[in-house]
Amino acid sequence: MSVRPNITLLGSTGSIGQNTLDVLSRHDSHRVFALTACSDHERMREQCAMWQPEYAVMVDPDAARRLEASLTTVAPRTRVLSGQDALLRVAVDPAVDSVMAAIVGAAGLPATLAAARHGKKVLLANKEALIMAGPLFMAAVRDCGAVLLPIDSEHNAVFQCLPDNNRLPGRIEPSREVRRIVLTASGGPFLDLPAEQLPAVTVAEACRHPNWSMGQKISVDSATMMNKGLELIEACYLFALPPHQVDVLIHPQSTVHSLVEYCDGSMLAQLGSPDMRVPIAHALAWPGRQPSGADFLDLVRAGDLQFREPDPVQFPCLRLGREAARAGPAAIIRLNAANEVAVEAFLAGAIGFMEIPAIIESVLHGPESAADDPVRELEDVLAIDRLARAQARELSGIAGRS
Ligand code: NAD
Ligand code: MG
Repeated sequence: MSVRPNITLLGSTGSIGQNTLDVLSRHDSHRVFALTACSDHERMREQCAMWQPEYAVMVDPDAARRLEASLTTVAPRTRVLSGQDALLRVAVDPAVDSVMAAIVGAAGLPATLAAARHGKKVLLANKEALIMAGPLFMAAVRDCGAVLLPIDSEHNAVFQCLPDNNRLPGRIEPSREVRRIVLTASGGPFLDLPAEQLPAVTVAEACRHPNWSMGQKISVDSATMMNKGLELIEACYLFALPPHQVDVLIHPQSTVHSLVEYCDGSMLAQLGSPDMRVPIAHALAWPGRQPSGADFLDLVRAGDLQFREPDPVQFPCLRLGREAARAGPAAIIRLNAANEVAVEAFLAGAIGFMEIPAIIESVLHGPESAADDPVRELEDVLAIDRLARAQARELSGIAGRS
């Protein structure tokens, strides 16, 4: 009898976490070793009752206490841990084979990087973790024998379209056969909104994505198109490409998830329903395939597939992402930190939608940007991140809040 691999889900109560459990529930392929979340102890209780993991981590200690009290009848053997250190512990436990990295934002970096350093199979949705620590992260994957599989739908699509002999992130050599990759972007909810109306859009409008159902932060990132800026950087690290070999095209139907263009003029694309269970199922079963639960794509009903250039006035965040990608790791860390703070401020009603790119631009071009900060250790990453967050909080008018 084959032994099922153990998987830890970092961020199990979120959109990617729930989709991952949905795929896992369709197969008897993995044993859920640990589930982690920030504070949603009620959803965590349901997940523990269903999956009976060894560990459940609530980062928030109060939520951990409530969870522990509620598990006595439904999951008495699940041990409840709390705090940031507990995330690391369940990511690197020797019993763990695979880690789904699905925490949102910088909070996921330490545990995701630690999983790579312990040679785990890392299924990466948490793009902020990779782009903040790109060179460190990719070196960890290469040197520690980790397997890194992209969950972000565009990067999973590129991964599926790359040549077979040269495909695992961390081990990809620059290839003259690949001319460029093209990331597709839906354009989000404001694709055709007149630019003068953008400053007044509401949080609810920004979070209403036309094709995908996602967590709040990535929904706002999609509306500003900073998501594509972050994804451009993610692609450079994953596929060892310079920024000028990564293009972005608007494709409102979200049917073609991305493309690889080869030197002979061939373009390979991956198509599918806009459902994150497709890339999740792909990564869980890799190098095989398994059903995902997603609808099969009906090309006749899908209708016309359209492509167009992104408008730099409508989407300044995409330009800022490309600028940071060219400038290097310290600029990328500042871009990401400023974006996380600005999005949080927008969601809290403290700033308007178009202040998001303005704040990011100020932090990116601020006095600190002249410094050629070394980025050799996680501590270097976190120091640049802290400073940029403080600047962005000041600019957002939320400096006093934690
Ligand atoms: P979400 O907000 O729905 O879920 C986030 C999860 O992280 C939750 O389980 C939450 O408890 C946990 N979390 C939040 N803050 C935390 C903290 N400080 N410490 C520990 N845990 C914390 O987010 P999501 O939409 O599932 O996105 C997760 C990641 O995947 C993001 O990086 C996002 O960019 C990426 N991603 C998401 C999608 C999607 O369709 N949702 C697609 C591609 C990539
Ligand atoms: Mg994506």
